[in-house]
Amino acid sequence: MQLKCRFLPQNDGRCGWYELLPPPSASTPLRGEVKADWVVLGAGLAGLAAARRLAELQPNAAIAVVDAKRVGFGAAGRNSGFMVDLPHDLNSHSYTGDQSADRKLIRLNRGAIDFMRAIVQQHSIECDWREQGKLHGAVEGRGVQALETFAKGLSALGEPYRELDAREMKAITGTDFYRAGLHAPGAVLIQPAALVRGLGASLPENVHLYEDSPVREIEIGQPHTLITDLGRLKAPRMVLANNAYAAQFGQLGLKGRLLPVYTYGSLTRPLDAQEQAALGGERSWGLIPADPMGTTVRRMGDGRICIRNCFTYNPSVSTSENRLARVRAIHRRSFERRFPMLPNVELEYTWGGALCLTRNGGTPFGEIAPGVYSAVCQNGLGLTRGTISGKLIAEYALGIESELLDIMLEQPKPQSTPPEPLLGIGVRSTLAWKEWQAGTEL
Ligand SMILES: Cc1cc2nc3c(=O)[nH]c(=O)nc-3n(C[C@H](O)[C@H](O)[C@H](O)COP(=O)(O)OP(=O)(O)OC[C@H]3O[C@@H](n4cnc5c(N)ncnc54)[C@H](O)[C@@H]3O)c2cc1C
Repeated sequence: MQLKCRFLPQNDGRCGWYELLPPPSASTPLRGEVKADWVVLGAGLAGLAAARRLAELQPNAAIAVVDAKRVGFGAAGRNSGFMVDLPHDLNSHSYTGDQSADRKLIRLNRGAIDFMRAIVQQHSIECDWREQGKLHGAVEGRGVQALETFAKGLSALGEPYRELDAREMKAITGTDFYRAGLHAPGAVLIQPAALVRGLGASLPENVHLYEDSPVREIEIGQPHTLITDLGRLKAPRMVLANNAYAAQFGQLGLKGRLLPVYTYGSLTRPLDAQEQAALGGERSWGLIPADPMGTTVRRMGDGRICIRNCFTYNPSVSTSENRLARVRAIHRRSFERRFPMLPNVELEYTWGGALCLTRNGGTPFGEIAPGVYSAVCQNGLGLTRGTISGKLIAEYALGIESELLDIMLEQPKPQSTPPEPLLGIGVRSTLAWKEWQAGTEL
């Protein structure tokens, strides 16, 4: 079976998190003919977790990780940095539908946070790791109602939270934009590119990382062969950790089930002392909008503010300069509405990145062809879901049983979607309608 990688990772704007790191040392691309016991395609959260866990469990095995770009350059380094522990469907009427399923998801997410915390501590990874929880902010009546439902759902699950009124929200965020809020303490905030670069730099010795090595073709067989411009890598077992880019693999049953959707971030320059004083509030916080189509905001300890919003359907898994310019204008408006006291603070960086969603929130986790293991599709929550998918796919492939693995295997499989062009029309109009409904939460 041959898989053509028609859609390769592109540059998709300048990601502030990545650009603010020191330049990386020279990369090692894949060259010539290389053999390994395992190959992991993709060095994002899932790929790096899978490679690390395989290496821990099989210290004598040779594990290769191949990525088209530098570690931290892809979506794993482009996100807003919320490691979310709670179920994230703020859209559902009751917040929690099935409490037992929600508790299991919380265990998976917290399993990811525990796994990551241990690595960050063991290797002293400097990624601004902050166990300070997340705020949820509501601007309008609909948002306030959503937060009330969320609070009821959290009470039913026995999860701690604190409701906040407009005055308390202003005391934390400095802005009087939010009518109501809620603080949930379990989320961890990080600088995503710094985290992922630290993960790449601290891999066990039996992991070999090949960067700047776009895989153009994969021959599925015994062994599998990954073909790049300069080399070929052969391995009997492969972990797919290329997330949204796996949507093109119809031969593995993934096409028509995985939806590559983009979302976008912008980062300001650092506020100066006068601007910090004009804003007031606390120096570091992260806020998720009451409406999922609204605006995520982070104020960073270094004085920058990050804005994230807009979703677009991008089946070719890339975006354009025009789109980035339009998004930047939307980010500018979202920023001005929240921070009118900061009229001269420019957005220094704007970028896009790929999410992989499914219609039913399902995941193709498991062995999807002989010797091909899937850890793709995090449904937008890759920091926790990607991490735990990677760790657990390694354990699954090596026959190691655990309660968390059972939970992962119980998750629904992705539902199929209608064919194009119906799919594109459907996804684009749903996103537009939901964005319109989000109103000023955007
Ligand atoms: C702006 C933004 C904000 C977000 N905010 C959050 C958040 O706050 N919290 C959260 O949990 N999630 C967030 N996400 C989602 C999160 O970033 C993703 O879910 C996560 O990165 C998925 O991890 P992954 O390892 O599965 O895939 P990815 O990070 O996408 O990694 C896949 C890797 O595969 C590589 N690859 C693909 N094709 C090839 C090929 N042919 N050859 C070689 N390499 C290839 C890519 O270069 C990439 O490095 C956000 C995403 C964006 C874009």
